[in-house]
Amino acid sequence: MVATKTLTPYQVERYSRHIIMPQVGSAGQRKLLEAKVLVIGAGGLGSPISIYLALAGVGTLGIVDFDTVDVTNLQRQILHHDKDVGRSKVESAKETLNAYNPDVTVIAHEEPLTSDNAMQIMADYDIVVNGADNFAARYLINDAAYLSNKPLVDGSILMFDGQTTVFLPGQGCYRCVFPEPPPPGEVPSCAEAGVLGMLPGLVGTIQATETVKLIMDVGNSLSGRLLLIDALDMEFTTVKVRRNPNCPLCGDNPTVTELIDYAAFCGVPLVSA
Ligand SMILES: [Zn+2]
Repeated sequence: MVATKTLTPYQVERYSRHIIMPQVGSAGQRKLLEAKVLVIGAGGLGSPISIYLALAGVGTLGIVDFDTVDVTNLQRQILHHDKDVGRSKVESAKETLNAYNPDVTVIAHEEPLTSDNAMQIMADYDIVVNGADNFAARYLINDAAYLSNKPLVDGSILMFDGQTTVFLPGQGCYRCVFPEPPPPGEVPSCAEAGVLGMLPGLVGTIQATETVKLIMDVGNSLSGRLLLIDALDMEFTTVKVRRNPNCPLCGDNPTVTELIDYAAFCGVPLVSA
């Protein structure tokens, strides 16, 4: 990405702690301001992801969610406040993000992500960040990002465990490791098993970090590595992942060539973590 616009004096001051770093500078900050990032889910992961991206000055943030704020969300979903219970999550998210940084254009996509709209929604963005923590959504987002040739910053959480990685176009995907979704009911959801309130903060903040690194093209991304977080023992482990030639999506002889709505037969609602 090449940034063209110049920074206003206010922006120079606002983002001065970024700009002062040689890895960022004025050029990096301008890249952030011109970047368009799609965050899927305005829930546990989507909250820290979108808040930190907004604070960093990522100029356009798309937020996909069709849920309303529930009182059980407030233990971890820092986009939403007590007064927001019952409100649309994307509306609540937009208000919070613009309160943090009015410089950011927040685009609300208040609709469930499906095989019909996923690639159309992704088309307008540079990077996709997954904050929707269920298997139907994870496979749909993985497949749509790959078929759209977009980098995907993935993350998931359950109980005290989290994991996150980056999939760059042509360098592997979620199906390289896990070719098919588990049978319905085999893996519990956060609603069934629970999740520690600050765990999405840990994982989502790492996803936001990876996203700004991709935008500015600095450092080594988590592409090719899966970061596993065990908060109970507070251990961080990385395992190598690589493109699998037998992958049903990005392998040499793909069998998945169009999007699949697993929700239709899993019976899993596409809600955010
Ligand atoms: Zn793959």
